[in-house]
Amino acid sequence: MSKKPILITGGSRGIGAATAYLAAEKGYAVCINYLKNQKAAAKVVDTIRQKGGEAVAYAADVSVESEVVALFQQLDRTFGPVQALVNNVGILERQMRLEEMSAERLNRLFQNNIVSAFLCAREAVKRMSTKYGGRGGAIVNVSSIAARTGSPGEYVDYAASKGAMDSLTLGLSKEVAEEGIRVNSVRPAFIYTDIHASGGEPDRIERVKDSVPMKRGGQPDEVARAILWLLSDEASYSTGIFIDVTGGR
Ligand code: NAP
Repeated sequence: MSKKPILITGGSRGIGAATAYLAAEKGYAVCINYLKNQKAAAKVVDTIRQKGGEAVAYAADVSVESEVVALFQQLDRTFGPVQALVNNVGILERQMRLEEMSAERLNRLFQNNIVSAFLCAREAVKRMSTKYGGRGGAIVNVSSIAARTGSPGEYVDYAASKGAMDSLTLGLSKEVAEEGIRVNSVRPAFIYTDIHASGGEPDRIERVKDSVPMKRGGQPDEVARAILWLLSDEASYSTGIFIDVTGGR
C-alpha cells in the first residue's frame, strides 16, 4: 500500500520538524514546507531518508495565495493528493502593548498566522473531500494556549490570530464532517523552539516556566505526538476538538 502524503507547513524547525520526524516513523510520505532556511529543511529531509522514510521539502511563503496553490500542485506531482495537513506555520512579532502596534505589523501577523491556514485548508479540502472525489483526510491546526489567555502585554495580536484559528477549526470541522475530513487542533504553550527569539526574548520559557503546574517547558515532540494522534485512525470519531499541550496550564 502506498504511503499517505502529509504536508506540514513550517516543517523545517521546531514543532513542525518534530512532527515531520514522527510522521515519517508512522509511515507517511512527508512533505515539509519552509520559508527560507533551506539548510534546516534539508536536515529534516536527509534525516528522514537516512532512516528509510520518504521526504521532500518545498520552499513557499504560505501567506501568499499563488505560492500555496503551487505548493499543493508540487505535492500532487510528487506523492499524490494530500491526505493529512498540519497547519503549523505561525510567527510572533516583538513583545509590545496594543497601542504601539502598527497596521503593517497587524497585517503581516494575520496574513502569516491565519490567512495562510485558510488558504492551505482550502487547497486540502479540494483534494480530500469525498464531494470532489477525494478519499477523505485529516487536518490539524497548530493553535496556542494564547487563544485562551490573550497574551496581555506581550502580543495580543498573536493571541487573537490563534483565537481566529480556533474558530476556523470549529467551523470547518462541521462544514466538512460528512465529506470524510476531520479537522482538529493542538494548543501548545511554552515549547522550546526558536519562536521566542523572534518575540524578542529567546529565554522566555526560563522566565515563565514557574507559572506552569509541571514547572517546566515542553519539548516539540510532546506536541508532535498529540498532532499525530489526531491525524490517525485512533481519533476516527473526533473532529472539532482541541488538545492542550501545556503542562497543566
Ligand atoms: P519556529 O521554531 O519559529 O518555526 C517556524 C517554522 O515556520 C519554520 O519552519 C519557518 O521556516 C516556517 N515559516 C514561518 N513563516 C512561514 C511562511 N510564511 N511560509 C512558510 N513557512 C514559514 O516555530 P514553532 O515554535 O515550532 O511554532 C510552530 C507553531 O506552533 C506556530 O504556529 C506557533 O504559533 C505554535 N506555537 C508555538 C509555541 C511555542 O512555545 N513554541 C506555543 C504555542 C503555539 P524557516 O525555517 O524557513 O524560517
